[in-house]
Amino acid sequence: MADSESKKPRTFIHEIIDEDLKSGRFDRVHTRFPPEPNGYLHIGHAKAIVLNFGLAEEYGGKCNLRFDDTNPLTEDPHYVESIRRDVRWLGYDWEDREFYASDYFEQLYEWAVQLIKAGKAYVDDLSAEEIRRYRGTLTEPGKESPYRNRSVEENLDLFERMRKGEFPDGSKVLRAKIDMASPNLNLRDPVMYRIIHAEHHRTGNKWCIYPTYDWAHGQSDSIEGITHSICTLEFEDHRPLYDWFLDALGVHHPRQIEFARLELTYTVLSKRKLRRLVEEGYVRGWDDPRMPTLSGLRRRGYTPEAIRDFCERIGVAKSNSVVDIALLEHCVRQDLNKRAPRKMAVLRPLRVVIENYPDDQVEYMDCINNPEDLSQGTRKVPFSKVLYIERDDFREDPPKKFYRLAPGREVRLRYAYFIKCVDVVKDPGTGEVVELRCTYDPATRGGDAPDGRKVKATLHWVSAAHALEAEVRLYDHLFTKPDPNEVEEGQDFTANINPDSLQVVTAYVEPSLAEAKPGERFQFERLGYFVVDPDSTDDKLVFNRTVTLKDTWAKLQKAGKVN
Ligand code: ATP
Ligand code: MG
Repeated sequence: MADSESKKPRTFIHEIIDEDLKSGRFDRVHTRFPPEPNGYLHIGHAKAIVLNFGLAEEYGGKCNLRFDDTNPLTEDPHYVESIRRDVRWLGYDWEDREFYASDYFEQLYEWAVQLIKAGKAYVDDLSAEEIRRYRGTLTEPGKESPYRNRSVEENLDLFERMRKGEFPDGSKVLRAKIDMASPNLNLRDPVMYRIIHAEHHRTGNKWCIYPTYDWAHGQSDSIEGITHSICTLEFEDHRPLYDWFLDALGVHHPRQIEFARLELTYTVLSKRKLRRLVEEGYVRGWDDPRMPTLSGLRRRGYTPEAIRDFCERIGVAKSNSVVDIALLEHCVRQDLNKRAPRKMAVLRPLRVVIENYPDDQVEYMDCINNPEDLSQGTRKVPFSKVLYIERDDFREDPPKKFYRLAPGREVRLRYAYFIKCVDVVKDPGTGEVVELRCTYDPATRGGDAPDGRKVKATLHWVSAAHALEAEVRLYDHLFTKPDPNEVEEGQDFTANINPDSLQVVTAYVEPSLAEAKPGERFQFERLGYFVVDPDSTDDKLVFNRTVTLKDTWAKLQKAGKVN
């Protein structure tokens, strides 16, 4: 086994697959990722993608991309396109195996007819509301529909006429005839078809009856020859129904395996909720960098490698748990640390004038592009008499443990000189510090004092005359609570939206960034990782902060609190 493969964690799913291969139940591994094209993919889907495509890779098998497009009311080809793009971006290839549940509508219809003929399905005239009432509860058995014992002939006739469009929406359904007293509610004569006179994005107006998810899903897996149908835990109770359908039809029978869906702190992952965030304008769109969608994470600067790494680290389990978002952030830091070139940028500029520096002099300082990867070389960054440093790096009245610049104190400017603050200029009206007057020590060029004297802080800087202005978007969690769904009565998750999740600043960045293109990622020294936003134009640079450098996960690891 190749090295990269042997490092992947083994899970309970591996055990099941190994057993199936050993027992001869299957002689190959064929999985699928089955999104419904009714929204954008998010980090939870990434877990399912990495799992399904990953298992296929590990076992030399195949993984299909199947669009589960059984509901014409919520689906849209625009989502199909975004899903394709996101799966590809994550690094997976479904080759020629792009399938649609809607391609199986004819086969599903024939199978439904087969079940009617076998006396295992019937047309019901009860309304949706009545069906709900007749279903019973976990403690009470359901009640049989008065239409349950229609003859096969009548059912065949009515079902055909349903297909032909003779009946209005909601007037009839096709149901499986299983057991209204079953302790499993999914087996209480589940609905297989409903009448929806609506155009479908692929089948147009060919159909006005549409299969339910429960009827379409298992059969779609069977048609594609899927061996291991991996889904999230909430489908565990549906498994007996899927088994019942497949056995009643006598067709290829995949094994369904359930795993825990991903939940993340400070994040909602329900498509319904994500759609609300978009539609109600809490974010700028599905690809807003605060969204947990793959397109949002991509725009935020996440790499596919970081996301795959995250998915492998969290593993798969049989019980639901919430993952700390700090782990996701840790993964992207780990990845970008190795590859992102370093740059200097000042987010909240404070002007610094070096009094003893020659007025018109410019020096080009050698800066290391990436100390983690010296093969990335060095670059020259201009230094001159007037600079910007970070406003936070100066305190007129420094508290204990504040080692950065203060009146009378000396610090290092990275790759440049030691400077000392000799005076503070304030706005006479507001009292705000508007400029620092400093001196530099020419003997410290490069950042070290020949006399061996030490400073306690190293600051980043840019030359005012050379720096480029840039819009920088700084992000915080979209929600203020680890569990956004924890609300007072009468509220919903939007009550926990963080009003300060986006902060926009006008920053100054070093001139080498002039050519930076959308999607390029950098570390701004001491500030975090940043990516050029697609809003950038030739006239205006726009950056998103992917993540700060403060790694709370690494801290927890060090303290032995997490693995
Ligand atoms: P919906 O609420 O619309 O059904 P969904 O999240 O189930 O949303 P699908 O498009 O049906 O969305 O999901 C496709 C696949 O992704 C499913 O097989 C599902 O198991 C998996 N998936 C969805 N959300 C998660 C999650 N949070 N963690 C792991 N897997 C997920
Ligand atoms: Mg679903």
